[in-house]
Amino acid sequence: TLEEEIPDHWEKLPRPPIVVVMGHVDHGKTTLLDTIRKTNVAEREKGGITQHIGASVVQLPDGRKITFLDTPGHEAFTSLRARGAQITDIAVLVVAADDGVMPQTVEAINHARAFNVPIIVAVNKIDKPGADPQRVRRELSELGLIPEEWGGDTIFVDVSAKTGQNVETLLEYILLLAEILELKARVEGPAKGTVIESKLDKQRGPVATLIVQEGTLKVGDPVVAGTTYGKIRAMFDDKGRKLNSAGPSTPVEVLGFEELPMAGDTFIVVEDEKKARQIAEIRKQKKEQQEKLSRGLMLEDVFKKIEEGELNELRLILKTDTIGSLEALKKALTELSTPEVSVRILHGAVGGITENDVMLAKASQAIIIGFNTRPDLKAKEAAEREKVDIKLYSIIYEAIEDVKNALRGLLKPVQKEVVLGSAEVRATFKIKGVGTVAGCYVLDGKIVRNANARLIRDGVVIYTGKIESLKRFKEDVQEVARGFECGVKLKDYNDVKVGDIIECYEVKLEKPSL
Ligand code: GDP
Repeated sequence: TLEEEIPDHWEKLPRPPIVVVMGHVDHGKTTLLDTIRKTNVAEREKGGITQHIGASVVQLPDGRKITFLDTPGHEAFTSLRARGAQITDIAVLVVAADDGVMPQTVEAINHARAFNVPIIVAVNKIDKPGADPQRVRRELSELGLIPEEWGGDTIFVDVSAKTGQNVETLLEYILLLAEILELKARVEGPAKGTVIESKLDKQRGPVATLIVQEGTLKVGDPVVAGTTYGKIRAMFDDKGRKLNSAGPSTPVEVLGFEELPMAGDTFIVVEDEKKARQIAEIRKQKKEQQEKLSRGLMLEDVFKKIEEGELNELRLILKTDTIGSLEALKKALTELSTPEVSVRILHGAVGGITENDVMLAKASQAIIIGFNTRPDLKAKEAAEREKVDIKLYSIIYEAIEDVKNALRGLLKPVQKEVVLGSAEVRATFKIKGVGTVAGCYVLDGKIVRNANARLIRDGVVIYTGKIESLKRFKEDVQEVARGFECGVKLKDYNDVKVGDIIECYEVKLEKPSL
């Protein structure tokens, strides 16, 4: 692997902890992060406006730093389990003292545990009259988070994110735990880390927020992230200041990627841009193969709804790599509409598949089609969570074929008659216990036993039923072909006359073609 190529003779030095704030909605995560950022000395001096880059660095008066990932809600879990290396060192679990342990509190604990991230509990809103920090301790103890003061090993800090009470103590404890964890990284050598956010900026192109985990990232560095590559053209810190280099635990916003890397991708600096491109290409091919294998899923629920008449259209969300492919697909897919089921593009745009696309698909029962684009990590997780299907293509024809087949599957099958053959009645025989048997000559096709039959006299159908028995000479046969004679007994019918025509047919259920 690329990492193995990095020499390991560099010294490992202490680095700032990377912290995520988790907890139940409304327990005060956002407020706590805001208050923490205000304790930031550098910012206080500047009267600072923090630029949102998905992470921020807080510096204490003594110079020590903590990096906070600002990923609210579900995204906080994402940052715990980004592919590749783990990013988060410590999880701050915010629990409102007036509300206690709630479902997302439990969810947060489970996620942190699943990824072996140690938890510090911030018992919040202690300024409120109904606050009961002891109850929070009891409830969390039951979940295995036992406060140190009760002989356990979990740090609990009672805070008020609103008034700022004890927030600096919380930061002290975070740094204390970081020291215990002995968080270290090499400062020298090529940088590697994780992409935590990415977006396409109209003016600046792909913009990615990276968190450096090892080494030092410098402007001009050739870099690979997931299946994309680039050369760091410019770099900014969380306060929007231009940087030339960034060491371990530093979040930076960078320009210079050729395409959008995905949140959760790991990045690594390589020798030169050519190598970066080659690696990205190989990874891309591998990925496309994997995606091809996982294709073929369709939103079964959507289909059921359409089949049950609850929906009368196939709704699509289209994300493509270029305006050209977007227009081409829009046109081709819309043209697949049938009178029964129309194809409607709810949203079509150039760019990666985002969580918003997934939410839209979910809300509107649509299927997402990505052409030469990919879902980012958040979108992938949302799609899994919300059970929304994302279909990825790199060949326009395949996308069209799939939708076409899907629509065909949706069309109501119609009964279609296939005439098998006809025969002329040349003689009739009344047979005791059987009825009237027609001695026939097969004019065309074949007469088949048990097939549907109708009797035509002077061009008028006077009977519809079945061929009950079919004989050649005395033998029962399955079918008799054109040019042969046979004996036919029609089911429940005995008034056959010489000169009548017996037509034999079958009925098939067929999906109408598009
Ligand atoms: P989040 O959903 O966890 O990010 O919660 P927010 O930070 O948005 O807070 C939810 C509500 O609780 C807001 O109205 C906050 O003003 C309020 N809140 C947060 N922290 C405190 C606190 O320490 N004390 C009091 N009284 N209110 C708080």
